[in-house]
Amino acid sequence: MDGDLLFEDAGPPAFCDLCRACIAPGQAVSGQVRDSSFAHPVDPHQDGDRMVISCCVDHLAELQRRFRERPFVAEELWVAKIDQVMQRHHVGLSNEQLVRETGLNLVQLEAAARWCLGVGPPVDGPGADEG
Ligand SMILES: [Zn+2]
Repeated sequence: MDGDLLFEDAGPPAFCDLCRACIAPGQAVSGQVRDSSFAHPVDPHQDGDRMVISCCVDHLAELQRRFRERPFVAEELWVAKIDQVMQRHHVGLSNEQLVRETGLNLVQLEAAARWCLGVGPPVDGPGADEG
């Protein structure tokens, strides 16, 4: 999948995911990378497959190299899936609802929570300090 190159003909203005340069219409080069922090918004089969856009083939190659060097952590993907579901609901969900909405099981939910506490950013959101 890293080898897939897509040269786009036209489309909305885009910015290079590497250098942030504005890409002229028709000049965007895009490709897929494996990224465990990416949960696909609608298709769980595409979880972890992030589409990146760059201003040139060299920058796409650099992006793909960086993502290849980045470890793919299943727990990180589960956290991304949970996060995505939480953003849709804005209210607390039961574990049963989370299981249904994320497609994860309770063991995975627990592992994601542990990973979040161990390596992720500090939890400082609504509901973190109830009572
Ligand atoms: Zn660039």
